[in-house]
Amino acid sequence: MTCRITARVVPSHRRAFGVAALAAACLLGSLAGGVPASATSTAPTAGLAAAAPVAATPARRIDPRRIKPDVLKRNRLYRVGTMTGAGCAPASQVPLDSSANLLAYYRSTLPCLDQAWKGSWRKLRKAGVKFRAPKVVVHNGSSSSPCGTPGRLSFYCGQNKTIYMYDAEIVNPWNAYPGDEYSHGLTRLAATHTLAHEYGHHVQQLVGILRTIGPRYKGKLERRAELQASCLGNVWLSAQRDAYPILADYSQRPELWRYISVSNHGSLANQAYWTDRGYASAQPGDCNTFKAPGRTVS
Ligand SMILES: [Zn+2]
Repeated sequence: MTCRITARVVPSHRRAFGVAALAAACLLGSLAGGVPASATSTAPTAGLAAAAPVAATPARRIDPRRIKPDVLKRNRLYRVGTMTGAGCAPASQVPLDSSANLLAYYRSTLPCLDQAWKGSWRKLRKAGVKFRAPKVVVHNGSSSSPCGTPGRLSFYCGQNKTIYMYDAEIVNPWNAYPGDEYSHGLTRLAATHTLAHEYGHHVQQLVGILRTIGPRYKGKLERRAELQASCLGNVWLSAQRDAYPILADYSQRPELWRYISVSNHGSLANQAYWTDRGYASAQPGDCNTFKAPGRTVS
């Protein structure tokens, strides 16, 4: 699973439609090893320079007959109920102006993700699905993982259950607007949302969804997996809104999702639909993208 989200803060953020740009690219790939998939993003035209696109790796389709619909459509994950607040400490306000500080922010946020998801795991545990916390590292685009070298992307590697967060996609926009609290708030939102999205892939890994989809499946199932990861990320954001009140500060939140424009994530409307859906209910059961009508995952 390779993913990217690029936060781009537009200088004209106080004008209509100039709030911010979040460009996200997340791709299924390398779940069981091999060459990672790559991102093909359609970056917004406004804002800072985007991270360079990563060279594409030809995708190999797996045999659809190997897909186990029960794991995808009727997973026990959908029956865990509403996620509750995990009593997390307030979000760290460390500036995201360097790789070291970005790592500190992610490391301070990860325990809240662990606690919250572990708290939702009771029924899954009874069913024999073990919970394991992932690791998080910050990379500069040149690091490798057991899942390969994805380049300038944030991604999740199921082989070693590690989230790899790309530093420049957050540090660069942060440093582009020194002293601009509004821009920094949006950039922190992008960082938090990306981590929560990648954690969503980790949850998919633990409950067998990623393994079922396979390492290099492209197309509809990939979009459903990506939209689900964003939905799951927003389940967590919603349940921990006391500790991470970041979204409450942005009345123009729908504007954020307008700028997400990556083909493997589906249409903008559907990205907004699934992130809002997860945030509205805080229930993983509302993130069943695999059973959803095609029009909501296009
Ligand atoms: Zn993703």
